[in-house]
Amino acid sequence: MSERGLKNLIEKGDRGDIVLLGFPHDAGVRINGGRPGAARGPQAFRSALGRIRSASDPELDVDLSILKICDAGDVSPICSLEESHAALTDKVGAILETGSIPFVVGGGNDQSYPNASALLGREDALPLGVVNVDAHLDARPLKDGRAHSGSPFRLLLQDERFEADCFVEFAAQGEQCDRDQAEFIKSRGGRIHWLTAMQEEACVAAMFRVVLEDLTEQCASVFVSFDLDSVSGSTAPGVSCPGAIGLSAREALAIARIAGACPAVRLFDLSEFNPEIEEDRTGRLAASLFYNFCLALAARKKKA
Ligand code: MN
Repeated sequence: MSERGLKNLIEKGDRGDIVLLGFPHDAGVRINGGRPGAARGPQAFRSALGRIRSASDPELDVDLSILKICDAGDVSPICSLEESHAALTDKVGAILETGSIPFVVGGGNDQSYPNASALLGREDALPLGVVNVDAHLDARPLKDGRAHSGSPFRLLLQDERFEADCFVEFAAQGEQCDRDQAEFIKSRGGRIHWLTAMQEEACVAAMFRVVLEDLTEQCASVFVSFDLDSVSGSTAPGVSCPGAIGLSAREALAIARIAGACPAVRLFDLSEFNPEIEEDRTGRLAASLFYNFCLALAARKKKA
């Protein structure tokens, strides 16, 4: 049974339908005052992938072996945070160049601006749409001139290659966000879908689908950025900054499937998995997000 697990489908390399890339850095979390430990996220994520025993889902009738799934390794952790960000942009750009979808596992959420930058550097990806699934807005100013895990989407909104009305904050929590950031985002033309309102209407997945449909119409490509702290702290405790409320595991996995099913989505990143705080449950959810993204991608490839 185990030889048919998901991990056995993953080859080394940077050219496939989907390519894993690790960003084992948490200096950006430290600068932002969060709990360090996400540097070991990519390693723990890969070991959690090893616990997914099936690569052929009988419930959805999808066989993942239809996909070429590669692992391009990690962006080396030996340089400074800023050098690592530049190396990340280069590496994601190289993977995009092969026509593959990069699936980048952090590390701190600061990875999301360097990741977006790889798409912003491509004519064929513009205009770029970005959805940040996160409890936080992550549009804070820099600290002493340095990027950190709370600043990636401020940098994005200030980038002149980016059209700010193509930016959506999804599942943000009012109690964890400050008003200045919310106003900054709205003043630029970005949209915010707050978690509580969506959960009260039980429409998280439906709303996420609408967001991607709208961005698909408006943009040439879409980047979905997923911070694990968007998920309820009781479900995903192993993050730098857990919340009392959050997405359910079911809603999170639906988001991964909807993203994988959307042809405009050319990049996905997963941030803030902190196995030093909790590895087992959070790791399973992180691996399951990847699995569900792949399921939908495989179903799309099968149809094509
Ligand atoms: Mn975040």
